[in-house]
Amino acid sequence: MTRRLPVYLLLDCSESMAGEPLNAMEAGIYKTISSLKKDPHALETVYVSVISFAAKAKVLAPLTEVVALKPPSLELRPGTALGAALDLLRESIKKDVEITTAMSKGDWRPLVFILTDGQPTDDWRGPLARLRAVKPSLASVYGFGCGDEVDFETLAEVSDVCFQVSSLTTESLSKLFVWLTASIQKSVVSPDQLVSLEKSDLPMVDGMKLIDRAQPPKFQEKNARLYFHSVCVKTKRHYLIRYRFNPEIGLYFSEPSVTLPDDFFSDGAAKAPGVDASLLLQGPKCPYCQNHGWGKCGFCGHLFCLDPDNPAPTVVCPFCESHLTIDQSAEDFRVDGSVG
Ligand SMILES: [Zn+2]
Ligand SMILES: [Zn+2]
Repeated sequence: MTRRLPVYLLLDCSESMAGEPLNAMEAGIYKTISSLKKDPHALETVYVSVISFAAKAKVLAPLTEVVALKPPSLELRPGTALGAALDLLRESIKKDVEITTAMSKGDWRPLVFILTDGQPTDDWRGPLARLRAVKPSLASVYGFGCGDEVDFETLAEVSDVCFQVSSLTTESLSKLFVWLTASIQKSVVSPDQLVSLEKSDLPMVDGMKLIDRAQPPKFQEKNARLYFHSVCVKTKRHYLIRYRFNPEIGLYFSEPSVTLPDDFFSDGAAKAPGVDASLLLQGPKCPYCQNHGWGKCGFCGHLFCLDPDNPAPTVVCPFCESHLTIDQSAEDFRVDGSVG
């Protein structure tokens, strides 16, 4: 039996990945799989599993040989449960991977690639300690922090090798996946000296750099980007309101809202500190009905879209169906968002 090279992709599917980054990750997995399918060495050796993490961690694709692997679609959910992902990774490896015994050579040590753009919203220290407690080491873990809100102090601790990727655009994420594919192919050729990617001679892609794990950039919770889950009054469908902080003006400006899957809340929502609504500028447009205002339900606390130009005196909360009277003067309410 050939020794397999298991590859685990752990992908952050939190709010901040909504839209372009999520699509780029999906396309990246697709391309990686199709490139590996064309590589005769990889075809024989590489097995891939895809695990997503947001409110919960989920195995989207169990460890499968590349030829049979269907690239999974990624689901956006609230939160960044990195700890849950590490526990699931440890359980999966113990279940999937053949260990070397006196009688037979087992699989190669798994390669794990973690892609995240934020900070964990759950306890990750316990799961990390459990992962590290297994000897010999279960996997080589490579962390990729994408964008400008990454908690590198955590990611550097979780990974054996940690990289910074400057942005979450389609271009930079697709380059990253090309790089990952090349790294996997390199590992296939010489798995016995399992490539330290740190010393890899693969040229890094633009905007990518190695993080010194002994001195990772200090993480400051800037809350530079805020996310609010809202429901359309007319269609009852979910969308994500996004704000970015403008440090010169000291206020948050809205970015285009993005639609959310209707089962977005099915795994529960991550709690985050509230923010004073008076710091939020511009009415974010509802992507379904173009209403450019929003309100907050006094009963369930959910947000919904409103037309500020033609305010109805009462409205039914699209989330909990309570009948509400609109108080136009309530500008100083606090809204509970998340930092994804
Ligand atoms: Zn609407
Ligand atoms: Zn409500």
